[in-house]
Amino acid sequence: VDSVEVPHFELQEDPSFWMDNNVQVVAIRVRPLNSTEKSLQDFHRCLKQESDHNITWIGQPETRFTFDHVACETINQEMLFRVAGLPMVENCMSGYNSCVFAYGQTGSGKTYTMLGEIGELEVEPNLNRGIIPRIFEFLFARIKVEEESRRDEKLKYSCKCSFLEIYSEQINDLLVPSSSNLLLREDIRKGVYVENLTEYVVKNVNDILKLLILGAANRKVAATNMNRESSRSHSVFTCTIESRWEKDLTVNSRFAKLNLVDLAGSESRQKTSGAEGERLKEAANINKSLSTLGHVIMVLADMAHGKQRHVPYRDSKLTFLLQDSLGGNSKTMIIANVSPSICSANETLSTLKFVRRARLIQNNAVVNED
Ligand code: ADP
Repeated sequence: VDSVEVPHFELQEDPSFWMDNNVQVVAIRVRPLNSTEKSLQDFHRCLKQESDHNITWIGQPETRFTFDHVACETINQEMLFRVAGLPMVENCMSGYNSCVFAYGQTGSGKTYTMLGEIGELEVEPNLNRGIIPRIFEFLFARIKVEEESRRDEKLKYSCKCSFLEIYSEQINDLLVPSSSNLLLREDIRKGVYVENLTEYVVKNVNDILKLLILGAANRKVAATNMNRESSRSHSVFTCTIESRWEKDLTVNSRFAKLNLVDLAGSESRQKTSGAEGERLKEAANINKSLSTLGHVIMVLADMAHGKQRHVPYRDSKLTFLLQDSLGGNSKTMIIANVSPSICSANETLSTLKFVRRARLIQNNAVVNED
């Protein structure tokens, strides 16, 4: 039995963050102790939460951190969505590129946060859905209201989605499993994109759920067939949202890209020891996207202090693909998932330090208009 009283803090929604086009928001989500952690004889926590902004790592030396949001163990999926997902809906509808990253060690709750329990809406309406399904449920409802209220302008939104994974520096289509090792291309209008990646037109949240279920199943099958853990790949679900309307006899349009990223377990940044041959190459490649992400964040944080530096976006597939989301034309939310267990104390500290640096990054989001 969990006998320790864990303080509960409600999260405050703060739309002011989203008024500022340069800000990058960092939220921490502490998952509850699992049954194994609870059954430890002298279990205790490595974290003490002081408010919805402050959390202390209780170790040597004790370290206090401040973030935009700190979600304690008792915060549910709906509340987390309200602070970390909802603002994204408004952003993309207004034509801003937006991105949510989930960062943290394997088992810290990244997939629970992003996808959560997934199943079709009519079949299983009461699941603990994660941020991605909730974003789209809300997005389609907002689109309906907008289109109706601006019927005289013939406002129409259209959405297209893709789902990919990056594993060992290879990009694979999660919706068409035979489509693997895809190439990144760059073009002035489209920016960086994945050649031959399938895109599906989506009209409602059920369309999204079907893609998520298919992609998650393919990710699992690919991992099993290749005898690897899916926690070692990064998955990126992307939706392009376009709107068109008529005003004063001209047709106007806007578009925005929404990237929803479940990163590989952060512990694999360090792990190469013991691996040989193919496994070593694989380990080095897995590290490459994550370590480049770390490097890019370090350089961008330095630049926020006024230093001029070259940002090594092109050093990995992940950072090249998501360069807009890091220090570029995007509004970005990083959710750092952590375990409060003493067993994970070192990984938890390293995650908190990593995202503290990421919080310094300045973006420069502008509306995409044709
Ligand atoms: P990751 O994707 O980081 O490897 P998971 O999302 O798979 O981690 O989470 C590991 C386990 O912990 C899963 O069984 C998940 O359901 C559970 N879990 C994670 N976060 C929470 C939470 N906030 N509340 C309840 N269960 C959670």
